[in-house]
Amino acid sequence: MRILIAEDDPVSRRLLEALLKKWGYDVVVAQDGRQAWDILKKNDAPKMAIVDWMMPELDGVQVCQNVRQREDDYYIYIILLTAKSQKQDIIQGMVAGADDYVTKPFDANELNARLRAGRRILDLQSELLSTRETLRVQATHDPLTGLPNRLLFSDRLTQRLAQARRQEQPLAVMFLDLDRFKLINDTLGHNIGDMLLKSVSERLQGTLREVDTIARMGGDEFTIILSDIDNADSAVVVADKVLQALAEPVILDGHELFVSASMGISLFPSDGGNAETLVQNADTAMYRAKEQGRNNYQLYTEAFNAAAVEKITLEHSLRRALARDEFLLHYQPQVSIGTGKVKGTEALIRWRQPNLGLVSPGQFIPLAEETGLILPISEWVLRTACTQNKAWQDAGLPHMSIAVNISARQFEQNELTPMVENALEESGLDPRYLDLELTESTLMQNPDTAVSILQKLKDMGVRISVDDFGTGYSSLSYLKRFPIDAVKIDQSFVKDITSNPDDAAIAGAVVAMAHSLKLEVIAEGVETLDQLEFLRGLRCDEMQGYFVSPPVPAEDLQQQIINGLSVKPSQLPFAA
Ligand code: C2E
Ligand code: MG
Ligand code: MG
Repeated sequence: MRILIAEDDPVSRRLLEALLKKWGYDVVVAQDGRQAWDILKKNDAPKMAIVDWMMPELDGVQVCQNVRQREDDYYIYIILLTAKSQKQDIIQGMVAGADDYVTKPFDANELNARLRAGRRILDLQSELLSTRETLRVQATHDPLTGLPNRLLFSDRLTQRLAQARRQEQPLAVMFLDLDRFKLINDTLGHNIGDMLLKSVSERLQGTLREVDTIARMGGDEFTIILSDIDNADSAVVVADKVLQALAEPVILDGHELFVSASMGISLFPSDGGNAETLVQNADTAMYRAKEQGRNNYQLYTEAFNAAAVEKITLEHSLRRALARDEFLLHYQPQVSIGTGKVKGTEALIRWRQPNLGLVSPGQFIPLAEETGLILPISEWVLRTACTQNKAWQDAGLPHMSIAVNISARQFEQNELTPMVENALEESGLDPRYLDLELTESTLMQNPDTAVSILQKLKDMGVRISVDDFGTGYSSLSYLKRFPIDAVKIDQSFVKDITSNPDDAAIAGAVVAMAHSLKLEVIAEGVETLDQLEFLRGLRCDEMQGYFVSPPVPAEDLQQQIINGLSVKPSQLPFAA
């Protein structure tokens, strides 16, 4: 522990020095108040000082006052040495900023005791400061990569913008999102995912200059502030360097991984005047880069036409919809035409978009397929539907199957079987109560692979239905090859089934053909009693449609079933 002795009287100064050295202190001396303050005002001043009151130049009380006016966290513990022992004097010294005092002539034991008390306080104080520093770092940095977090980033950006505005200098904001990071996370695990994020953050730091702020916004999103640039070209040069730096494969835990990123760049002042707009526009440009096939960067431009902007905006909010819990499932009963009993329900996704209200799947499933978002969304649908069905069973409802729509993209990615396995395992649902709906066109895109995937699913014990049947290839020979359980007659044939002989003939042929293959037939979009009667005449097995019930929330469906379903016996002339 370093300590300052400020004492003008040489005899007591030497005495003090000798004593303190004996007690293990590292002693610094000052011969008057001026010298004392010169030492104490420095950043590396000793943390303890014994200061004589009566000194030339500056007296001890003034030294105390000066020290207390330092505007930083540096704390110096001051013991005032004084011949004045009146209460009034002591109060004056303490008010000036002394922590303690010792009266002259001093008692060595007393001085030692007071020094120890001071050290205890300094210890506590330094602990407090380091806790405060830790908390500050935690609140402003990402724990995984140590990079500034969103909070610090926006703080820095605001600062840099003010500076750029003053100096009339351009500035660029880059928004970087790793490509297909989720896939790595999902297939290799979060540990590898975390390691990858760290390595990306190191590469970014290695590529950019000290003055550039790199932050992790969350997930696999990073943002960068480039100040000190001349124009858009210099930002583009940096973006190129970043892409190159990321292109080197990363070896983690024996896996050789190739990462790439999509980046968007916005410029101050042309693309926005404040932090929020600049980040948002860089983000929009990043989506553009994704659309352009990933592993590239795009400059923000207002010239995106309105439709593109709308699409990007929708995609934008679609990306966040899962995390924000905006999806929900509605359920539509599938009823046996013979008995009127509910045999199953179909889970149909809805998106409660904050600005647009309830969005129907027709409006976002195609976009989800295009962007690959369909995978996480489908995973959610499968899990939610299975869990819901198990909950109904556990609540004592009659066991029904739950039908889940599978998109072509999902089928093609070879991830369907593990996804289904997980959903079943997590929910505890018996596989025979899960019914996967695939459209004809999905199956026909690659019939050979389709057969092998379907076979795997069948082996797991789940049911398979062909959705929208009749709208696609309707190839009987293929239908025979697929291990399926049911076909669903598309609603377009049901719509005019009673008035259009062609539709009636097609529906009739589908039923006959399916039955000959021992497949069940479900008619979709049944809205009227006439349609129902007609289908019954064709010996169609089940129906689904507004006549029974539109798709409804889980609670409503449960209530319908408890109430004995919405098909009143009077409406089922044949079932009573
Ligand atoms: P789909 O599988 O053929 O579903 C039947 C559609 O017909 C549903 O539309 C349903 O609300 C509607 N519908 C039911 N009964 C009637 C009726 O009596 N009359 C009429 N006019 N329509 C009826 P929705 O819910 O808008 O879904 C449209 C399509 O979006 C679905 O067609 C399905 O292909 C797709 N979809 C829905 N949910 C999901 C999902 O979770 N994942 C995937 N990949 N696709 C989904
Ligand atoms: Mg369907
Ligand atoms: Mg359908």
